[in-house]
Amino acid sequence: MKASKQRILLLGPPASGKGTQADHLSRAFGIPHVSTGALLRSECARGTPLGLEADSWTSRGLLVPDELAVRVITAWMAGNGPRFLFDGFPRTTVQAEHLDKALDAANTPIELVIFLDLSESEIHRRILDRLTCAACGTTFGGSLHGMKIGDACPSCGGDLIRRNDDTEEALSERLRVYRESTLPVVTYYRKKNPSIFHRVDAGEGSDEIFQKLSALVSADKG
Ligand code: AMP
Repeated sequence: MKASKQRILLLGPPASGKGTQADHLSRAFGIPHVSTGALLRSECARGTPLGLEADSWTSRGLLVPDELAVRVITAWMAGNGPRFLFDGFPRTTVQAEHLDKALDAANTPIELVIFLDLSESEIHRRILDRLTCAACGTTFGGSLHGMKIGDACPSCGGDLIRRNDDTEEALSERLRVYRESTLPVVTYYRKKNPSIFHRVDAGEGSDEIFQKLSALVSADKG
């Protein structure tokens, strides 16, 4: 499929399907999918100082400091072209302002902002049922797919695990942080760029959402 939009932000609460949709869009349109959460988890798995510092925040359901998140995304942008689908970045208005400044300086502004909105009861249900492949990062609804921790990932054979922040305790903290720090980012882009901002109901089926998002990515305008 042909993408009209080359620089896209996917915003939304935990378990709103940002990662899954970004993955599908990336495959369909050939735009790189960049998840700051996944970049940080990979740093942590490799035991780098940055990864270990990040883990001390993420395992408690807290955001890593802005400086660290901006460092990770700046390193990615330095090694890649001006095309991306950001999933999980920016998560604070400070990060959004950093990003806009860097993109404005390069004359490559954001072209599409998608807000995947989901009720808190559905977030709880999905997160506490979520299994993640330790190797490829694909996520599955455990009860929906009849899977449990330790099963083999159907995509790559890796181990299915429960992320250390997909627990009741970390989730209530993540939701508090989401309301306090990330919802303001949604308001920031809705006010700053209303013509490229789109809210999509993340409670709908994954295929319907993908159709809607694909239409937005391929549309010539807005
Ligand atoms: P995610 O995989 O997007 O759910 O992110 C997992 C965790 O990584 C979050 O709960 C944060 O601790 C951290 N993280 C990911 N992206 C950011 C960001 N842009 N700013 C701060 N922390 C982040």
